[in-house]
Amino acid sequence: MSKPADCVIGMGANLGARLQSMRQGAAQIASFCEVSAVSALYETFPVGPSQPLFLNAALRIQCEGDPEVLLSRLLAIERSLGRIRAQPWGPRTLDLDILWILDTSHRSSSLVVPHPQLTERCFAILPLLDVAPTAVDPATGTAYASLVSRLDCSGVSRVDGPSWAAL
Ligand code: ATP
Ligand code: CA
Ligand code: CA
Repeated sequence: MSKPADCVIGMGANLGARLQSMRQGAAQIASFCEVSAVSALYETFPVGPSQPLFLNAALRIQCEGDPEVLLSRLLAIERSLGRIRAQPWGPRTLDLDILWILDTSHRSSSLVVPHPQLTERCFAILPLLDVAPTAVDPATGTAYASLVSRLDCSGVSRVDGPSWAAL
C-alpha cells in the first residue's frame, strides 16, 4: 500500500463565528485524515474587497487518496459550514486551500499545488512554516523559509498557539 500524502491545508475565516468555523473545519478534516501538526492562529488584514479581519491557520495532515479527492472533501466541508461564493476573494465562513504536498506538483483545471499564491501571502506561508518548517518548493527545491524575509508580514498577527484547534 502506498504511503499517505503529507499535505498542508491553509485555513481562513472572516464571517460569523470565525474561531468556531475554524475548529469545526479542523475537526472535520481530522475525521478522515491524521493531523500531525497544527499551526498557531493568526489574525490578518484582508486583501481584496473591504471586509472583516481573517483568522488564518494551517494543518499538516497525512491523507490517503488523490489530491483531487482531498480537494472535493475540503470543498464539501466549506459548504457544510455555510460557505457562499458571492465575489472573488470576498468574505467567507471558511476557506480551505491545499497549500503544499510533499514532493508533489499538481496542475489541473480544478487544482494547482503548491497553491500559486503561497509564496506571496504571509497569511499562508507563516502558518505553513509553523507545521512544515523545512518545506521546499517541489519544482525548484527552494526552502519556503528562505522566502519570507522579502515579504511585508506586518498585516499578520499571531493571536494564539496551536491549542486553538482543540483537537
Ligand atoms: P485563492 O485561490 O486566491 O486563495 P479562493 O480561495 O478565495 O482564492 P475559492 O473560491 O475558494 O478561491 O476557490 C476557487 C477554486 O480554486 C476551487 O473551487 C478549486 O477548484 C480551485 N483551486 C485551485 N487550486 C487550489 C488549491 N491548491 N486549493 C484549493 N482550491 C484550489
Ligand atoms: Ca484561498
Ligand atoms: Ca479556496
